[in-house]
Amino acid sequence: MSADRPGADRPSGDPALGPPLAVPRWLVSGEPGWTTSADVVVVGSGIAGLTTALRLRQRVDRVLLVTKTVLSEGSTQWAQGGIAAALDPADSPQEHLHDTLVAGCGICDVPAVTALVHEGPERVRELVALGAEFDLDEEGELRLTREGGHHRDRIAHAGGDATGKEISRALIAALHAVQDDPGIEVIEHALVVDLLQDVDERVCGVTLHVIGEGQIDGVGAALARAVVLATGGLGQVYSATTNPSVATGDGLAAALRAGAVLTDVEFVQFHPTVLWLGEGSSGQQPLISEAVRGEGAFLVDRDGVRFMQGRHPLADLAPRDVVSRAIVDRMHETGEQHVFLDARHLGREFLEQRFPSIVARCRELGFDPAVDLLPVAPAQHYASGGVRTDLEGRSSLDGLYACGEVSCTGVHGANRLASNSLLEGLVFAHRIADDISARLAAGELPPVEPAPAPAGTALLDGSARVQVQAAMTAGAGAVRSAGSLAQTAATLVELAAAATSEEPGPESWETTNLLHVGQVLTLAATLREETRGGHVRSDHPELVDPDWRGHTHLVRGADGTVTTSFEPVPEQDLA
Ligand SMILES: Cc1cc2nc3c(=O)[nH]c(=O)nc-3n(C[C@H](O)[C@H](O)[C@H](O)COP(=O)(O)OP(=O)(O)OC[C@H]3O[C@@H](n4cnc5c(N)ncnc54)[C@H](O)[C@@H]3O)c2cc1C
Repeated sequence: MSADRPGADRPSGDPALGPPLAVPRWLVSGEPGWTTSADVVVVGSGIAGLTTALRLRQRVDRVLLVTKTVLSEGSTQWAQGGIAAALDPADSPQEHLHDTLVAGCGICDVPAVTALVHEGPERVRELVALGAEFDLDEEGELRLTREGGHHRDRIAHAGGDATGKEISRALIAALHAVQDDPGIEVIEHALVVDLLQDVDERVCGVTLHVIGEGQIDGVGAALARAVVLATGGLGQVYSATTNPSVATGDGLAAALRAGAVLTDVEFVQFHPTVLWLGEGSSGQQPLISEAVRGEGAFLVDRDGVRFMQGRHPLADLAPRDVVSRAIVDRMHETGEQHVFLDARHLGREFLEQRFPSIVARCRELGFDPAVDLLPVAPAQHYASGGVRTDLEGRSSLDGLYACGEVSCTGVHGANRLASNSLLEGLVFAHRIADDISARLAAGELPPVEPAPAPAGTALLDGSARVQVQAAMTAGAGAVRSAGSLAQTAATLVELAAAATSEEPGPESWETTNLLHVGQVLTLAATLREETRGGHVRSDHPELVDPDWRGHTHLVRGADGTVTTSFEPVPEQDLA
């Protein structure tokens, strides 16, 4: 059965949207054995969390930063290509805005993109001033390169292809420099399970599990006047992803359970050039950055045909969704499980100097980019949707902010433009820190007591993780259809019904989060009956249906059912 026209609010039990979706409010976690408090709790230590915490520390009395494993773990340190900003005098924020809107396929929020592109250059210069060492040209200016979808050289990079590592290093060094400051506390190995709310649903803290020593160990509660979720992506919901193991969508799932609005979660970016390591390879896979194509590498099929030529005016540097789709099409045509990236003509010396990490990783795995064609195929890379926020990073729940990949500021629309995500984390972290400090100074967000939390619902055992990933990959991956999504939804419902584990712990919390994220992603992908950006429906292959020019929203109601709604976006000039 086909879904109705967009616009109507619908519960997930609507027959067109598959089986009813009931998401519990709490995960089983046990009674908190300890409590701590701060003005603000920041969850996550990627570019978004670290930047927010560092800026807040200068403005509020007490900031608590908690992170699931160690400070450096997260997608940020894996970022290769760089960070986009109109830093070249020949470039302009207006041109960056235009490229971003085109990549976003007509559903970016223009005010959010405007903030990103206008504030971006200053934020990047501040990062340099903080100590991040970017690659420089002969004149000592930032060396800029180009990536897919950009019409100017505007990608600043560090260590050749180790931009994220350098940004993470610089931010962590800045944090260590103030670690004796009583205004900031950091707890590593602290997994946030759920959000605490008062009787009026204002978010006032988190429940978390700490592997620590002394008083802060096991399950506890961190109370705060505001909570900033900066928990990154959801890549582990699929079998193959470029994301590290911590990317299990925990923040997104916790926000969903607490009743925050999630937006555009069907828009998942599959990176076109992930090194193909053989059938059945799972978990984090090695990425071959777009910047390699930016420097002149190109895609070929098994017969050596450059299939991107004539497919898009930017050929191999077309936006990611276009390249991913072209690769999937060519794989179907040839019956192969990958295509090839040819970088051989760039030469050994250049490749080693410009892409030292990628070359080293390829060689470890038996490929020499200076000699070999590299087998590549698309894999999950980035979540363009997330917890809906406004321009100050506020979610729909009072007291809850979201920043970085877990958020949906409206910057990315249906498809993130390359290297805009580090920039989004940076720009919106500043906005969030400024908004929270202004509100606290104005006496807003007074401390409140969390309402008593009833016992949580049974968890999915950690062993079910591969089943969730297999179902998501098979039916809700790079190419979906009503039939494949229905199959995935049914499998996830069966898995949810089998959730019987009463053994709370990181494995079962993460796996249950993957289930909840998978369920709402599948629901949103079922709702949107068109192909746009990162959302490719084989049963609706025609590109961008004007009726669907807008955002899909999902929200869990008090009874646990998830309701969908649609918000049109004004038409944009993408010429
Ligand atoms: C291989 C790769 C290459 C990329 N290249 C680029 C690029 O060149 N340019 C670009 O702009 N973007 C790139 N991206 C995307 C970009 O790196 C990410 O979108 C960005 O770093 C996200 O930052 P973040 O701070 O939101 O999240 P992350 O850096 O992922 O940090 C999330 C943090 O939250 C913590 N966390 C998660 N769950 C919990 C929990 N339950 N409790 C406590 N803590 C938790 C994690 O441990 C981590 O510290 C790349 C991504 C990958 C994976």
